[in-house]
Amino acid sequence: MKLYKPIAPQELPKFSGIKTYMRLPHSQETQGIDFAIIGIPWDGATSYRTGQRMGPDAIRKVSVTLRPYNLALDVDIFEHCTGVDYGDLTVIAGYIEDTYARIESQLSVLVEAGVIPVVMGGDHSITLPELRVIAKTHGPVALVHFDSHTDTNDQYFGKPYYHGSPFRRAVEENILLPENSIQVGMRGSVYSKNAYDDSIALGFKVITMAAIREMGLPKLIESIRQRVGYAKVFVSFDIDVVDPAFAPGTGTPEVGGFRSSEVIDLIRGLKGLNFVGFDLVEVLPDYDPSEITAILAANILYEFLSLIVINKKLQAETLEAKT
Ligand code: MN
Ligand code: MN
Repeated sequence: MKLYKPIAPQELPKFSGIKTYMRLPHSQETQGIDFAIIGIPWDGATSYRTGQRMGPDAIRKVSVTLRPYNLALDVDIFEHCTGVDYGDLTVIAGYIEDTYARIESQLSVLVEAGVIPVVMGGDHSITLPELRVIAKTHGPVALVHFDSHTDTNDQYFGKPYYHGSPFRRAVEENILLPENSIQVGMRGSVYSKNAYDDSIALGFKVITMAAIREMGLPKLIESIRQRVGYAKVFVSFDIDVVDPAFAPGTGTPEVGGFRSSEVIDLIRGLKGLNFVGFDLVEVLPDYDPSEITAILAANILYEFLSLIVINKKLQAETLEAKT
């Protein structure tokens, strides 16, 4: 079995070569790999700024400085796992339903082969077709959703699909387990006192940024873990959950969010949950002059990979203990 690894800087300097995530080989191999980094360059369903289609490109560009050993989690990503930069899925600009169909058929190939998808968006509307694919293989899953918005609105000018509605659609389509799902980081000005009631009525637990300031990170991590339990879980990370001081490159920024160090700790705190997929959405490079948003995004994906690896390592150790 071929082991895919990043190119070492001793082989080729970091500033050289064609940019893939973390300098992984670009391959559409689906057999014998644990994870695939996938770009979905779609921004046709935004309600304010556009340009998220350039997100995957920007993240790949800055990800070349990532190194394989995650010291905080004490794990070498490529000692236990192998994975590829799968490239970008084909989207059709201007046609969301056709794009959804394309995302579903392309992503199914990976998920059915047992590969854990780690997707770079794109605006948040792409999570709905991802979840459809995940549910086809795994059944309805728990959702851990980091965002400053709930994205459970109903319609936008009478249309069902846009980046503010994917999680309402997902509940309607019975592809989520709302009783195991949680939305984290909501804040900002809203339309009414009952802004989060829709999410709660759909069955989600909602933890606002104000509540997080009160409870602190350890308690937040504990409530996410309790909510998810042993369910299979998809993590959807909207970069706008981070404060615009740390992540200005996004479409609908909201002040008063997490610092970058807090989100890294938060993700590490999820280790051991039963992950079946991840995405990171809404990176908008045009508003990211110093690339700090893209750098943070690349590092969040790196933490996702580390979580996959920790589970793989634990599985291997359990098997070994049994034999
Ligand atoms: Mn969102
Ligand atoms: Mn958002």
